[in-house]
Amino acid sequence: MNWSTHEANRLYGISKWGAGYFSIDPEGFLTVSPLKDDVSIRIVDILAAARERGLRLPLHIRFQDILEDRVRRINECFTTAIAEASYQGRYAGVYPVKVNQMREVVETLMTAGSRYNLGIEAGSKPELLLALSLHTNGERLLICNGYKDEEFIRLALMGTKIGKKVIVVAEKLEEIRSLVALSKEMGVRPLIGIRIKLATRSSGKWATSSGESAKFGLSTVDLLEALALLEQGGLKDSLRLLHFHVGSQIPDIQVITRSVREGARFYAKIVRMGFPLEYIDVGGGLGVDYDGSRSAVASSANYSLREYANSVVYGILDVCNEERVPHPTIVSESGRALVAHHSMIAIEVFGRIKKLNTLKQISLSPQAPKVVRDMLEIRETLDAGHYEEAFHDLVFYRQQAMSLFDLGYLDLHSRAIVESLSWEILAEIGRYYEGKSRMSDEMKDLIAGLKDQYLGNFSVFRSLPDWWALGQLFPITPLTRLGEEPTVKGTIADITCDSDGKVDCFIGDGEGENQREYLWLHELDQRPYYLGIFLTGAYQDTLGDMHNLFGRMDEAHVVLDKDEEGGWYIEETLKGDTVQDVLEENGYAPAELVRSMKLQVEQAIRSDVVRPNEGMRILAEFEKALSQYTYLRVSDREKATEE
Ligand SMILES: *Cc1c(COP(=O)(O)O)cnc(C)c1O
Repeated sequence: MNWSTHEANRLYGISKWGAGYFSIDPEGFLTVSPLKDDVSIRIVDILAAARERGLRLPLHIRFQDILEDRVRRINECFTTAIAEASYQGRYAGVYPVKVNQMREVVETLMTAGSRYNLGIEAGSKPELLLALSLHTNGERLLICNGYKDEEFIRLALMGTKIGKKVIVVAEKLEEIRSLVALSKEMGVRPLIGIRIKLATRSSGKWATSSGESAKFGLSTVDLLEALALLEQGGLKDSLRLLHFHVGSQIPDIQVITRSVREGARFYAKIVRMGFPLEYIDVGGGLGVDYDGSRSAVASSANYSLREYANSVVYGILDVCNEERVPHPTIVSESGRALVAHHSMIAIEVFGRIKKLNTLKQISLSPQAPKVVRDMLEIRETLDAGHYEEAFHDLVFYRQQAMSLFDLGYLDLHSRAIVESLSWEILAEIGRYYEGKSRMSDEMKDLIAGLKDQYLGNFSVFRSLPDWWALGQLFPITPLTRLGEEPTVKGTIADITCDSDGKVDCFIGDGEGENQREYLWLHELDQRPYYLGIFLTGAYQDTLGDMHNLFGRMDEAHVVLDKDEEGGWYIEETLKGDTVQDVLEENGYAPAELVRSMKLQVEQAIRSDVVRPNEGMRILAEFEKALSQYTYLRVSDREKATEE
C-alpha cells in the first residue's frame, strides 16, 4: 500500500478528535496548533526542550493557549446564539473546579475568562476556599454545589459579606433551613439557588447523575416545601438561581434539549409564583468527542459547541416566551469541554511482548510424541479451503498436549514446539479471516490473544483513571513515524504489577466502528518510540492514584510566544513525585528508611559479607534513589543512539 501521512491521519482519526488542535506534518510528526491557526509545534520538539530543562518521561504537557481558546469559543458560541435568537438575557459561564483543580489550570481560566466574567463553581470546602481566594471580581459568579454543613454555608456567606456574588445552591431541604438560620445570625442577605431533579435522564457512563433517583437535587414535592421555607424565613427575595445537572459527557443532543426545556419549565413556574429568579443554571454535561465519531456513543457527542449553545438558548427562549416570563441569565457549568483538550501525556515504549516469537526451526526427533507430530501436520497441510477444520484440530491437539504436559508426559522442548506451532497456525488463520465476520467466538478470542503488547513507561491508574474505572476511551497515537505504515496490531501494557494496568481498547475508525481491541503500531527499532495520549485535561489529573507507588508525572507548560512568528516556550516545569515523596505520603520517614538500611549495611560489613567500600556505595545508591523519579529510566538507550 502507498502509505502517506494522509492515511495515518485517517487511521488514527487525528483531524476528527483533534478538533483542529492536533495534526500531522508532512514529515510524519504529530503537531499541536494551540490556536487552531498555522502555528504548529512538533510534540517531539517539546519533549526535547523538556529534556533540556531536566524533565523526564512520562511527561504531562499542558497547552495554556488551548485553555484560553476553549474559554473564548464557548463564550462566543453562546453570544452568537443569544444574538441570533434575540434572547433578552446574557450568558455567564462558571468553571466547576472539580474537573481540574490544579492551580495553573484554574488561574489560566480565571485570567482568560475575565473578559467574559467566567465564574467558578465549588463542590466542597477545599474547593470553596480556593474559589473564594481566586475569585476577585464582584461581577463573576461563585456557585456552591454539593452537600454542605454549617461551616461550608458560613464560609460562603462570608464571601457574600465582602461583596462577592456567591450563590449557595441547596441540594436538600436542611440546607435551606441552615441558610435561613445562618443568614439571620450573620446579618447577610444570601443569594440562594435550588437544585432540582429532572425526569430527563442521560445515557453514557455518567447517566446515574440524572433521573428521579439521582443523588442530588430536590424532588418537586421538596421544591414546594423549600419555597415555603424561604417565604416563611423572609428569604423569598433571595432565591435567584435554579440549577439542574443531568450528568457529565452527555452524548446525545436530544437529552440536552429535553432537560433544558424541562428545567426552563420549572424556572418559569417558580417565577410565576413571585420568586425573583435571575439565573437558570443548566449544569455541565457538554460532551467532548474523544473518539472523533461525532455520534451518540459514550466516548463521543453527536453535537458541536454551537449546537449545544443553540439548544440551550432556544430551549429556554421558547419556554419563557410561552410562559410569558423574563429571559434569565443563562449559566452553564461546562468543565470537561473547557479543559479536556489542553493536556496530553507523552510516554515512551520500552519493549514489546511478542506473541509470535516462534521457533525458527522445528526438528522432531523420531521419539517425538504423536501429538507434536499431529500439530506439525496441521501446519503442513494448512490451506484456504480447510481453515475451519484446521482450527478445530488445532484446539483439540493443543488441549491434548497441555494435558500430557500436566501429567508429566511432555518435555519442555515439545511444549515449546506445540506453543510455537499453534501461534503460527492461528496467525495464518487470523490473516485469512481479517475483516470477515464469519468467525466463531472461540476463534475470535484466540485470535484476539495474538496481539503484541507494547510496554509503555507509565501507569494507567495514575494517568488514565477513567479508562481503568469506566472504560472511557482516549485517543492514542504515535508521535513520530506517521509517514511510515504501522504494521503491528498491538495493545499497551503499563509498568504496574497489575493485569488491569493496560490499554486494550481504542477508538474506532469514527465511521460506524465504535472501538477496536488494538492499535496499529510501528515495528520497534533503534529509534525511541513515543506515544501520545490525548484529551486528558478533564478529571484525570486528580482522580489518579498511587498504585505501585507511581507518583505524579513531570509537567511542562507550553505557551506560544506571541512576539515571535511561530515561537513557543516552556513557561513552567513541574517535577513529579520523587520516590521519597510517595513513600512519605504513605507514612514512611525517609530518614528512618536510610537509618534502617545503614544498620543492615553495617551489619553486613561486620560479618564480612561486603567490603566497607562496597557497603558505602550501596548506601549511597539507596539514598540517591530516594530522590529520583518513580518511573523507569528508559532514556539511556535513547541517549546512546542520539550521540
Ligand atoms: C461535575 C459537575 C459539572 C461538570 O460537568 P462537565 O460534564 O465536566 O461539564 C458541572 N456541574 C455539576 C453540578 C457537577 O457535578
